Amino acid sequence: MKFYITTAIDYVNAPPHIGHALEKIQADVLARYHRVKGDDVFFLTGADEHGLKILRAAETAGQNTQAFVDANSEHFKRLKEILNLSWDDFIRTSDQTRHWPGAQELWLKLLAGGDLYKKKYQGLYCVGCESFKTERDLVNGKCPDHNQAPEKMEQENWFFKLAKYQKEIESKIKNNELKIIPESRRNEILSFIESGLEDVSFSRPKKDLPWGVPVPNDPDQTMYVWCDALANYLTAIGYSSKIQDSRFKTLWPADLHVIGKDILRFHAAIWPGMLISAGLPLPKAIFVHGFITVEGQKMSKSVGNIVDPAVLVKKYGADPVRYYLLREIPSGEDGDFSLGKFEDRYTSDLANGLGNLVARVVTLGEKISPVKFDFSADVDSEVKKICNNAYQAYESSFENIKLHDALSGVWSLISWADKYINEKRPWEIKDEGTFRKVLINAGYILGVALNLVEPFLPETGEKIRQQIWFDNSVINFKKGDNLFPRLN
Ligand SMILES: [Zn+2]
Repeated sequence: MKFYITTAIDYVNAPPHIGHALEKIQADVLARYHRVKGDDVFFLTGADEHGLKILRAAETAGQNTQAFVDANSEHFKRLKEILNLSWDDFIRTSDQTRHWPGAQELWLKLLAGGDLYKKKYQGLYCVGCESFKTERDLVNGKCPDHNQAPEKMEQENWFFKLAKYQKEIESKIKNNELKIIPESRRNEILSFIESGLEDVSFSRPKKDLPWGVPVPNDPDQTMYVWCDALANYLTAIGYSSKIQDSRFKTLWPADLHVIGKDILRFHAAIWPGMLISAGLPLPKAIFVHGFITVEGQKMSKSVGNIVDPAVLVKKYGADPVRYYLLREIPSGEDGDFSLGKFEDRYTSDLANGLGNLVARVVTLGEKISPVKFDFSADVDSEVKKICNNAYQAYESSFENIKLHDALSGVWSLISWADKYINEKRPWEIKDEGTFRKVLINAGYILGVALNLVEPFLPETGEKIRQQIWFDNSVINFKKGDNLFPRLN
């Protein structure tokens, strides 16, 4: 089965922080999990490179806008290597060959459907948000996100008839044709939609927004973010009649969009409206994650507490960072990053947990390696049962995208194995047959834990496979380096 998974495309006006890392890692684990299941996975990420904020950031940096986004996109692309991510493609919205034709084609589809119209619009515009604000959005006359009074602005814009699709979007979410995970976000978006969808401004005058995709057949207008950025999910896989690409037919609709809670409305209200209008099927599901605070505080440049994932990885390795973000932050909720908690997790779960278990089992197993075994005769029924239960709980955690639960289940299995070894005390066993049986059972549990942990910790998985591996009915043990060296 095909599995097309996407992340949001990041806005490249600043370098990536640990919040970006969280989303990519979550999507990566889901992609790897589906690959293990034998699915034909296509994992897409990319960069959102248009808009006023980027234009101004480039100006401030004294750079040509294209050169600025070229350089900043590289920071995001580098995450692939830093965090050991397995995405298949990276789409950039400033790519005039790959992205623009499809975005413009989508625009023309909406226009042909009678869903785009031009209207004069006057309002309070926040440059930081790049959007018009209603009085209701303001706190003491200022945008609460930017602590800045919006400017009065009149514009003639193109509008998309989103209101027209309100009922249809609502019913598709209600009947889970478009599944929103977790439930709390589904309720949130449903109540937002039920309160009434308004038509959405889809363009800006080119003189105000010169950096973006030109509106087809209207050279004085530039596409606003919606038809530009959201279209990436289509253009990356070849949506455009000008590029004959059979991938689009195979891959669309997306099986899962992974996004942050701040862009839920765009993905679960505007995007479905656009797709319905264009006659395209909706994505099957949207998974929404929360935000990360650092030591209990919101990350911000002015506080100076932005955590760079590259710095963490350099010191601790990619897997410990992946582990912390997926275990400590409940998927779908907000969470906190704290260096103290991070090092605690490293020591207790990785060094003393998984690392220690592998070292103990392999050290003992090496004495009799290779070990031929018979699954039905040699593996205890209790061990089989524990492993089966762990596997089933893991599957259901993935189904509900509760990656923290999946990991905590694997760690229960690891603790169980630790306890098993402590109780059996194989180092004291003199009888060769009994010793062999205990090692087969411990090795078997470790093999199951390894399979389950590998999508989360791919590098560790590989290292474990060099120390314990199975061919047919033989377990091989070979002692190697410590998986997680102790912290100083
Ligand atoms: Zn603002």
